[in-house]
Amino acid sequence: MNTYASDSDSYDTVIVGAGIVGSALAAFLSEDEDSGRILLIDRSISQVFGSTAYAPGFLGQFNESPVLTRLAIESLGEYENFPDIFCRAGGLELARTKDGVRMLEERCEKARGAGLRATMLEKEEAEGVVPGFVSRESFTRALYFATDGVADPEKLCLAFRQKARERGVQMLEAEVEGLEIIEGVVRGVRTDGDRILKGQRVILATGIWTSLLTQSALDIHVPVVPVAHPYVYTPGKDRSPQTPFCRWPEDHVYARDHGDCYGIGSYDHSPMLVHSPGTTGSEPWTNADFAPVIEKAVKAKIAVDAELSKLTDLNSSAGLKKVNGVFSVTPDNLPLLGRVPGAKGLWLAAAIWITHAAGSARLLARVMRGREGDGEMARALDPARFADGNKKGLEALALRQYNDIYRSELAK
Ligand SMILES: Cc1cc2nc3c(=O)[nH]c(=O)nc-3n(C[C@H](O)[C@H](O)[C@H](O)COP(=O)(O)OP(=O)(O)OC[C@H]3O[C@@H](n4cnc5c(N)ncnc54)[C@H](O)[C@@H]3O)c2cc1C
Repeated sequence: MNTYASDSDSYDTVIVGAGIVGSALAAFLSEDEDSGRILLIDRSISQVFGSTAYAPGFLGQFNESPVLTRLAIESLGEYENFPDIFCRAGGLELARTKDGVRMLEERCEKARGAGLRATMLEKEEAEGVVPGFVSRESFTRALYFATDGVADPEKLCLAFRQKARERGVQMLEAEVEGLEIIEGVVRGVRTDGDRILKGQRVILATGIWTSLLTQSALDIHVPVVPVAHPYVYTPGKDRSPQTPFCRWPEDHVYARDHGDCYGIGSYDHSPMLVHSPGTTGSEPWTNADFAPVIEKAVKAKIAVDAELSKLTDLNSSAGLKKVNGVFSVTPDNLPLLGRVPGAKGLWLAAAIWITHAAGSARLLARVMRGREGDGEMARALDPARFADGNKKGLEALALRQYNDIYRSELAK
């Protein structure tokens, strides 16, 4: 039997999902004096357990999709409000082949066109910028983005939750089991214990779990596709100042000095669909799938005397944190942000990176307030763009994006 909502269970806005996206959205929507009652629900409010908790925190602004570049620039501007958590440590892209260098030169040109500080560095010039853990054989030239950043995503998320709380947003720790949609209009959500929470508008900021909630409630398929991704941290070290984040786009590898340890990740493997994500943004690590991928990345990209170079045998290295993190891919590598077709009052903010989270939340808040001026961006991200697709076809397209995660389908 349902427990029907009392007045205290009625809200103007219900946001499901308090990862970086939902938390930033709650913070921004509650800035308005007339924002009404806002509820932020997550299965874990006291801690961060979604994909946000597993991201190593690289925030690279340039993307060949101008929409993503704009969202990233706006996001990093927001993160500057948290100087203890975010820092413009810079980002480096490293290439070794002629084609790879040509690709960096093109990216450099386009990034400058987008107003970003981007510089091509010769190997000798790169000496003072490239961190010591990078193998000097792994590149011939580098592209340096001086204003890119790094952050601790979990702390950023908690900071936005705190801002939202201070502005009167109510928080509830509960599992949302379904959406209440009656005659094409969303009325609220149903949580565990069959409690109905009424909401005049409901926003799903549910990351990798989004299609689990939408599949039973909507006629259309929402192609937010969860995939597994390996990232490994070395044991702890003495804290050192931030250095630029490093990527080797030709080989789909990236690495970072986290200050108190190092980490390395790789996209150089077949995409792995996660059919039914558990309750956190990570799955158990499987050596057979991921150890060879990380070991290959380390051998090719890391200096032999660096701490990270010990990760060439993941079975025997002790004290490592091996993460099989899960994030979302979409058929065109762009987020789904905006109204959900066929369900009045239902909004979506999913498949959004930390890099684009605050900018996406700002954009959605503006659109929901009815402000004009973001038409082109809003159209590019409109969830309705996939309304005619079928599940299998959309899923296949999305999985194809995994290896080139930093590009968008529009740019290919
Ligand atoms: C290994 C790894 C590396 C990454 N690297 C980077 C990087 O370097 N840079 C970058 O920008 N991004 C990176 N990402 C991607 C980034 O982490 C995600 O895109 C981002 O965190 C998504 O944020 P979110 O708020 O949408 O989702 P989440 O953080 O997953 O939040 C969704 C929330 O919804 C809640 N929820 C879902 N369903 C329900 C339900 N039914 N009831 C109640 N609560 C529910 C969950 O508990 C969760 O807290 C990485 C991700 C991983 C896993």
